[in-house]
Amino acid sequence: MTRFFSNKYASLTPYTPGEQPKERKYIKLNTNESPFPPAPGAVAAAAEAAKHVQLYSDPECAVLTKAIAERMNVSPKEVICVNGSDEILNFAFMAFCDDKHPAAFADITYGFYPVFAQLNGVPYDIIPLKDDFSIDPADYIGLNRTIFIANPNAPTGLMLPLSDIERIVASNPDNIVVVDEAYVDFGAESAVSLIHRYDNLLVTQTFSKSRSLAGGRLGFGIACEALIRDLNTVRYSTNPYNVNSMTMAAGVAAMQDDDYMKRNCRIIMENRAYTTEGLKKLGFEVLPSMTNFVFARHPKVSGDTVYSALREKGILVRHFTLERIREFNRITIGTKEQMDALLEALKIITEVQA
Ligand code: PMP
Repeated sequence: MTRFFSNKYASLTPYTPGEQPKERKYIKLNTNESPFPPAPGAVAAAAEAAKHVQLYSDPECAVLTKAIAERMNVSPKEVICVNGSDEILNFAFMAFCDDKHPAAFADITYGFYPVFAQLNGVPYDIIPLKDDFSIDPADYIGLNRTIFIANPNAPTGLMLPLSDIERIVASNPDNIVVVDEAYVDFGAESAVSLIHRYDNLLVTQTFSKSRSLAGGRLGFGIACEALIRDLNTVRYSTNPYNVNSMTMAAGVAAMQDDDYMKRNCRIIMENRAYTTEGLKKLGFEVLPSMTNFVFARHPKVSGDTVYSALREKGILVRHFTLERIREFNRITIGTKEQMDALLEALKIITEVQA
């Protein structure tokens, strides 16, 4: 830290993204990307948009907003487009949290929440998950905090039923509830249908996972018109051109090619079941996942050892050092071939180490 760095960030610990290694070709199962390329129309649309990149992108994201609204059955005024859903999560901390509206989220959840809270000087409560790593909805009833819930949760993969989400939203009418649905397309139920009934609900989604556009950086939020207006106040005060023209064009095509997305999600869900079964045969405990990853631990081989041994064999997974989950690894579901390579490597690792 230099002597110029603002005091307000002096104690900030930044988010640690999963590695994007260049030194060697890994089977990359560490950042929950899609193993499939973007929809064919998306790449062509981005290439076409690149021809006009001397112009600023549309700050209203009008065409993309309309495509998202149509697909989600909401009005374009209930949609905001962002540079990856990380951006809207930060906007939500900026717009809806302060000393009078502290934040609350689980102890084991998306690692960016505490970082955004610290970045924005927002006090926050950490609510421990139950012993089985599920969320206890009772902990969030009438909490009087701005609530952030990843549903399904990461890195556990566990899902809270929509009825529980609704109970939480309904019991906190004077606080915003942000439901982060980055992984919703892999078998979970979305809370988007609730936004017309609750003016305190913000649902966030991303193109990074099910729509294969992680590198394009595109996400969106859905909420009642008034909340979207607040979020736009923050967006226009930071970066009105937050979504670039190539990504915007790719996003429209990706949103319109629902069949492609659904086909890919179906394959991932099949591969998830296959991988879960394979891991269990090797003695792993695997949490029931509704996402494009599984969270698994072995009773005899430490999480750290599994991570390092896989890495040596050219397979990258995600290991967290948090005490409660250090025996686990989060493994992105890839193609069947990638999963076979993973299971083959783990067979050897568990035989040698156990
Ligand atoms: N929420 C959760 C729970 C995530 O795991 C991620 C991916 N790291 C995000 C949000 C952000 O994804 P993106 O910014 O790529 O949309």
